[in-house]
Amino acid sequence: MLSRRHFLTSLVTVAAAQAVSPTISFAEQKRRIPWRNWSGSQQCFPEYRKAPATIAELQEIITSSTGVIRPVGSGHSFSALVPTDDTLVSLSRMTGIVDHNPDKLQATIQGGTRLGDIGQPLEDIGQALTIMPDIDQQSLAGCLA
Ligand SMILES: Cc1cc2nc3c(=O)[nH]c(=O)nc-3n(C[C@H](O)[C@H](O)[C@H](O)COP(=O)(O)OP(=O)(O)OC[C@H]3O[C@@H](n4cnc5c(N)ncnc54)[C@H](O)[C@@H]3O)c2cc1C
Repeated sequence: MLSRRHFLTSLVTVAAAQAVSPTISFAEQKRRIPWRNWSGSQQCFPEYRKAPATIAELQEIITSSTGVIRPVGSGHSFSALVPTDDTLVSLSRMTGIVDHNPDKLQATIQGGTRLGDIGQPLEDIGQALTIMPDIDQQSLAGCLA
């Protein structure tokens, strides 16, 4: 019998590939590609999709874009938080640990990092998490937002 967990995981695999790959596979593109969230309940047709690799590139996008700019993580949220027909910005190229403090057991992690990619790097610096979600495709910034 298919468990809820296996059902959700298989859906995540398919939907995440459909919803997210266009966002992360290029830094900037001008051909308009529809965006949809994980469930397909939210959709938009952004004029631009941008994926900066540095803070400077992100600043340039924010200052030069017109219209509504929306950040997108993995598109796993169900409400109308992400859709824009102007500029969609993914931080999928801004990932990983940038700093850590072994005394305070604190780490600074870039917002585009997927939850599933945090475990090993944190363990490597002696700050492994005690628990992780079974659905781990969400971005850190998306979860916090
Ligand atoms: C199968 C499934 C299971 C789930 N299980 C749980 C659960 O157990 N517990 C739970 O709490 N939630 C759960 N959720 C909900 C999900 O974790 C949240 O909706 C989360 O916000 C999704 O993160 P995301 O990276 O996909 O963000 P998105 O949905 O892409 O974006 C969410 C918000 O974050 C903003 N955002 C994204 N990136 C950035 C950025 N870099 N800077 C600033 N803002 C940004 C977006 O503009 C938007 O407002 C589940 C969702 C699914 C589809």
